[in-house]
Amino acid sequence: MPADPRRVDLHIHTTASDGLYAPAEIVRRAAEAGLAAIAITDHDTVAGLGEALDAGRRLGLEVLTGTELSAEFPNGTMHILGYGFDPRHPALLSALEQYRRFRDERNPQILAKLAELGMPIRYEAVRAKAGGESVGRPHIAQALVEAGHVTGVDEAFRLYLARGRPAYVNRRRASPEEAIGMIRAAGGAAVLAHAGQLKRTMQEVRRIVADLATAGLDGIEVWHPDHSADDMRALAVLARQLGLAATGGTDYHGHVREDVRLGVGRGNLAVGYEAVEALRARLAARKP
Ligand code: MN
Ligand code: MN
Ligand code: MN
Repeated sequence: MPADPRRVDLHIHTTASDGLYAPAEIVRRAAEAGLAAIAITDHDTVAGLGEALDAGRRLGLEVLTGTELSAEFPNGTMHILGYGFDPRHPALLSALEQYRRFRDERNPQILAKLAELGMPIRYEAVRAKAGGESVGRPHIAQALVEAGHVTGVDEAFRLYLARGRPAYVNRRRASPEEAIGMIRAAGGAAVLAHAGQLKRTMQEVRRIVADLATAGLDGIEVWHPDHSADDMRALAVLARQLGLAATGGTDYHGHVREDVRLGVGRGNLAVGYEAVEALRARLAARKP
């Protein structure tokens, strides 16, 4: 039997978080690119899903609900992707609201520390730098440059804003187990995103994933533009060994990584429709 030629992209950002294109525009582009299914996975929000699902229905493109949650992980980045959940689930919505509060309360704390250090910056100046996207340290750094306290953004991080520096404030995040629990409580499948960004050896990744599987993890993002061919082979083996779904996507933002394109990453990423079927199988196995 010939292999299923259908291709999917299960990791895409829109204007609902830090992507360049609106959800409906992403769906239009995905349909044009001939993808069989996509998931919209904006950071810590489900705000773009209604528009994306509508556009998918209109254009006949399968759109899975999705999100990408930041979890607490020392000296590395851990993101947990959620798929196929109910985007109106009240517990999920209130947990996401709390996430947003965590993020919003951090910026004033950083500005208070900078003021104590003799560098008062107005929040309005920072917000102006963000130009509508969610406000964070890069924008505070730009405001510090503008006020003449540092010569560049790099220096602002090195002297004040980086972890361990005097104006650093830790952002409270959910634990990995809480992030997985939020997604599963809303009826979704939880997938470890870009294991390459954990900044651990493959041996350590194996142990971390095995622990997360015990906590309810449903899958691993095997195919991602940041993963080498060796990474992807090892992660596919790990998924198979642990009975987890193997998924993938381009982490498309429309900019940020200029060379990454929808559906194909840097030109060589091909995620098969089997990824969607594997997620469905995980969800079906949980139904009472
Ligand atoms: Mn992003
Ligand atoms: Mn991520
Ligand atoms: Mn992402």
